[in-house]
Amino acid sequence: MSDCIFCKIFAGEIPAKEVARTDDVLVFRDLNPQAPHHLLVIPKRHATDLGDFVAAARAEEVGDLFAAASRAGRAASPSGYRIVVNEGVDAGQTVFHLHLHVLAGRNLDWPPG
Ligand code: 5GP
Ligand code: ZN
Repeated sequence: MSDCIFCKIFAGEIPAKEVARTDDVLVFRDLNPQAPHHLLVIPKRHATDLGDFVAAARAEEVGDLFAAASRAGRAASPSGYRIVVNEGVDAGQTVFHLHLHVLAGRNLDWPPG
């Protein structure tokens, strides 16, 4: 999508601190980290949120996204990490291209705020 910031990051048109990349998935550092390690995992294919993504995705596409998040989380902290997906205004979603947050490097409160 031409005016989507995460599509532009995937395409390399906006700089980001990249951690890992495949043809279909990019892992990069969040601009405003909420933990010592705060990574974002995005699919190349634009989807507004998780619901829209899974509605059109092959199972393999969903699996690749979670596999990338798992690898990034374990590499960031073998003692634990958290994956978060915000969907919609109630969850505080601010960027409307599906992204998985991977948070690690500190004790993460539960329940989350
Ligand atoms: P959401 O609130 O939609 O779940 O999360 C969006 C995340 O994207 C936020 O944590 C925010 O800091 C991050 N973010 C927004 N714009 C940019 C950007 O241009 N570059 C990077 N690296 N992160 C961004
Ligand atoms: Zn996009």
